[in-house]
Amino acid sequence: MNVIDKKEEHLLELFSKNMIQDRIKELAEKINNEFDKNEELYVIGVLRGSVLFVADLVRHLKMPVQIEFIRLSSYGDDQKSSGKVKSVDLSLPNLADKNVLIVEDIVDTGLTAHFLIDYIKEQHNARQVKFASLLDKVCARIHPVNIDYIGFEVDDKFVVGYGLDYQGYYRNLPYIGYFPQ
Ligand code: 5GP
Repeated sequence: MNVIDKKEEHLLELFSKNMIQDRIKELAEKINNEFDKNEELYVIGVLRGSVLFVADLVRHLKMPVQIEFIRLSSYGDDQKSSGKVKSVDLSLPNLADKNVLIVEDIVDTGLTAHFLIDYIKEQHNARQVKFASLLDKVCARIHPVNIDYIGFEVDDKFVVGYGLDYQGYYRNLPYIGYFPQ
């Protein structure tokens, strides 16, 4: 039995696999130029949506890289933010005086990004904290945040694919799309 109420054949593609991979190379080049190549960079991915983005991005980075993941959620199974950040697993190594790049799949209201940037800067005393998001749903912003590296802007659509899910599905798609209403 198929438990998904939205089917992949109805998805409209927004960003193809090639568009995503090309853009990630450009972002990596910027990151390589803006961080010291001799200093280690802690890449902190936000589970689970950023997994594919982190995996592809780090393969283009030239400095010594450490990869960490934290788990947060502001969405339930719904397509609307719950308005609260739930910290599920925030365990991280000592980041004092380290260069940190937080990697998200999408910034929507900005709640998660806002929380994370403050948390890493204040609780961890990192030297430099930058933020990368593959997608920026800028029209949905409630909490202003500074995103240093943006893949693509999206308008107010619920998107899936390339890490982003609907009810846990579609994260494995190599492209990003949406279901027309
Ligand atoms: P924010 O805290 O900025 O409101 O939301 C960030 C999180 O909400 C993202 O990391 C992502 O998990 C989820 N989210 C926001 N917009 C979308 C969307 O269009 N599609 C999916 N699948 N998740 C989204």
